[in-house]
Amino acid sequence: NALGPTITIGEILVEIMATEVGEGFAPPLTFTGPYPSGAPAIFIDQCVKLTKNAGIIGTVGNDAFGQINVKRLEKDGVDISAISIDDSLPTGSAFVRYREDGERDFVFNIVASAAGKIVRNKETDTLISKAGHMHIMGTLLAIPGAWEMAEYAVNVIKKNGGTLSFDPNIRKELTADSVFTQRLAYLLSQTDLLLPSGEEILTITNTSSLTDAIKNIFSLGVSEVVLKQGREGATSYHRNGDIVSEKAFEIEEIDPTGAGDCFGATYVSCRRLGMTLNDSLTLANAAGARNVQFTGPMEGTATLDELQTFIQNVSRKI
Ligand code: ATP
Ligand code: MG
Repeated sequence: NALGPTITIGEILVEIMATEVGEGFAPPLTFTGPYPSGAPAIFIDQCVKLTKNAGIIGTVGNDAFGQINVKRLEKDGVDISAISIDDSLPTGSAFVRYREDGERDFVFNIVASAAGKIVRNKETDTLISKAGHMHIMGTLLAIPGAWEMAEYAVNVIKKNGGTLSFDPNIRKELTADSVFTQRLAYLLSQTDLLLPSGEEILTITNTSSLTDAIKNIFSLGVSEVVLKQGREGATSYHRNGDIVSEKAFEIEEIDPTGAGDCFGATYVSCRRLGMTLNDSLTLANAAGARNVQFTGPMEGTATLDELQTFIQNVSRKI
């Protein structure tokens, strides 16, 4: 199954953004959207543009917001056969407003929406049985029912010779929960490629230095850690001691949402296509940087041609 599709499981949402920067949602504001969103949806859309072989498991409501997303994914070539349509719940959504300092305020409708209802059926089992790689995001650990699906999929895919990548996306508050920490430990024990950002790697390993954190992760069986470093680019650490870094591109950030997902999708796809570590990191940095230049989290996903044009035209940090 090594050549099977890349798959992911999780929330399919729309995002609706306040047009003015500021804090909270108190005064009546002007919004733009809905835009197709949800980290797993962004991830899989970016994957399919590079490999033409990717599918997602998730649920939308029987409404216009669900249609927006499913239609986009289908148009781009994503296998949507394992997307369920729930007749009683609305499609998940996220309202977002950017603050002056770049932080974001959110109002989420996820857990109690269709996005929070992930159920196994014939279509999900079929997609899982074909998969060559699965990407899991930490947000999945907060969706009831998704865990059973994730555990089942990890088992099947690993048994079939496939691989697993994991983007922890962890909030510190969650790490105090014992079920959560157990699940996190299980996922890490099955992960081939870990894609943390910022301080996340310290949080999930409960360490205070990057060296200790990386050592800890390798002792769990992970073979590669790719650290996303925002404006600093990205670094790949290998269990055999190899370290490869690539600088970020110099661009003006318009909308940071989705950078990590486009980066991860591109890195995973390029590695699966057999590209070198340096080329994969450069293309992934380009995908992250290019995406933040577009308003809307999924609007900046890119084909290989678009990424190569970007790389030729945009300078890198020194
Ligand atoms: P997200 O905010 O989507 O969760 P993340 O924290 O997981 O993202 P980042 O490190 O912010 O991941 O972004 C992923 C990659 O995208 C970076 O490693 C970098 O290559 C690129 N990138 C993101 N923001 C910028 C930026 N402002 N300038 C240049 N490159 C960027
Ligand atoms: Mg970030």
